[in-house]
Amino acid sequence: MSTDTAARPVPRAGVLAVEAYVPGKSAVAPGVKLFKLSSNENPLGPSPKAAAAFAAAAAKLELYPDGAATRLREAIGKRYGIDPARIICGCGSDDLLSLLAYSYIGPGDEGIFTTHGFLIYRIAIQAAGGVPVVAPERDLTADVDAILARVTPRTRIVFLANPNNPTGTYLPFAEVRRLQAGLPPNVLLVLDAAYAEYVRNNDYSSGLELAATADNVVMTRTFSKIHGLAALRVGWAYAPAEVCDAMNRIRGAFNVNLPAIEAGIAAIEDRDHEDAAVAHNARWAAWLTEQLRGLGLAVVPSVGNFLLIGFPEAGPHTAAAADGALAARGLVLRAVASYGLPHHLRLTVGTAEANRLVVDTLRAFLADGARG
Ligand SMILES: *Cc1c(COP(=O)(O)O)cnc(C)c1O
Repeated sequence: MSTDTAARPVPRAGVLAVEAYVPGKSAVAPGVKLFKLSSNENPLGPSPKAAAAFAAAAAKLELYPDGAATRLREAIGKRYGIDPARIICGCGSDDLLSLLAYSYIGPGDEGIFTTHGFLIYRIAIQAAGGVPVVAPERDLTADVDAILARVTPRTRIVFLANPNNPTGTYLPFAEVRRLQAGLPPNVLLVLDAAYAEYVRNNDYSSGLELAATADNVVMTRTFSKIHGLAALRVGWAYAPAEVCDAMNRIRGAFNVNLPAIEAGIAAIEDRDHEDAAVAHNARWAAWLTEQLRGLGLAVVPSVGNFLLIGFPEAGPHTAAAADGALAARGLVLRAVASYGLPHHLRLTVGTAEANRLVVDTLRAFLADGARG
């Protein structure tokens, strides 16, 4: 049907093919204490200094923020020893991923991501009018050769979450380098390092150095996870000057709000709080992995602040049944069928209380069905 004759406005081609992102659940039965373990939020909350900076911003809500987020970019630059002119901030890193797609993908252009890659990549590519191309993984981990095999003359972007959500797996830096070296120079490699701060493995790098030196590499980061500021929606990217220039032309003129800028500056300067969040996560991710494996569950090795837990495909102990048993105790996990993982649940590392309750609940759940 020609849109010239349509009875109402019709979205441009591709828009209605997008399946909207469904966030992690947050509701349980009334009267049950809620433990939201479905969105990889920080169980320690934000730095008290960030919360104070946010509260202080209430005194100047009539003011537009600095559209260039200059002080925030300077604080990030100082923290990581990088050039603030090549940092761009966004309304969450989701904003930056979309801006990258809109800047580099046109109708019919291809964007590559992996089978269980973060769902936002498909949405961003399709929203820009592009064609999503899925590269298979190996052992729930991105496979460099499979990605390179899917590059065509229409490829414009490769999105790689490293570590990946929801699997928790990662590519060592040598593999990321091999991927970059194998891509044509006109293909942008987007390294989504939303969980970089949590990774303690020596062979890992967020990609900061690669983004500093290569013309076709962008690294994105977020304040939503390690800094516990998901509500404020702040992310940043470190990119070649030409990429920043393109994104700066089309981004929202005030895409980071004033309280978010103030809280972000305080958060990035509070190393003690960041260290505490990393230490809490390392301790409890290891404990949860050990305990859940002890119950006979398959836990994918994770370097992030969440665990992907595998359940039996049939019988009384499926992922769906576990989800129900956990929810009855107020424990809300993330079902990941939309990621092609119908037999897994994703668990965010929570407070000590939440973590212990998850293990106790799953122990009872597994014992229950076993008795018949
Ligand atoms: C949580 C997450 C983000 C961060 O999104 P924001 O928009 O910054 O909150 C980005 N990428 C991945 C893979 C994530 O899991």
